[in-house]
Amino acid sequence: MTFGKSVLLPSYVRQAHFKTSEMKSNSFEFDCLNCNQVMRIVFNVLINATWDLKEAIGEKLATQAKKFYGIGLVGKSPGGGWPHMTICCCERCRTKCLIYAGVEEIYNSMYQVTIQAVTELIESEEDSHNERVNNCE
Ligand SMILES: [Zn+2]
Repeated sequence: MTFGKSVLLPSYVRQAHFKTSEMKSNSFEFDCLNCNQVMRIVFNVLINATWDLKEAIGEKLATQAKKFYGIGLVGKSPGGGWPHMTICCCERCRTKCLIYAGVEEIYNSMYQVTIQAVTELIESEEDSHNERVNNCE
């Protein structure tokens, strides 16, 4: 797996995109990097994604992603909270994107989500074994 273009990259100053207490949009939209189709990720999917990145996206990709985004040993997301990741797939052209969000529980079951990065994933032969990547077909 290699990382292609990014829609967003991690920032320390980005404002949260979602807070449980504020009834704004429940999803984050961005344009597919290859065909401009609108792609949408529901914040709850990110909130519910396991904090264990190996479990969420596969061990190899988790290792690559931590390196690519500069997630250190402590493993915190730059804006606060823990990194949660999921893979999203374009309906039209099947481009796969890795979504990286900082998820912070600010109060009991009240979450704040900051999208830190959206990066195109370019598959290589060996990735055919990663079922988490193939799931979005
Ligand atoms: Zn597309």
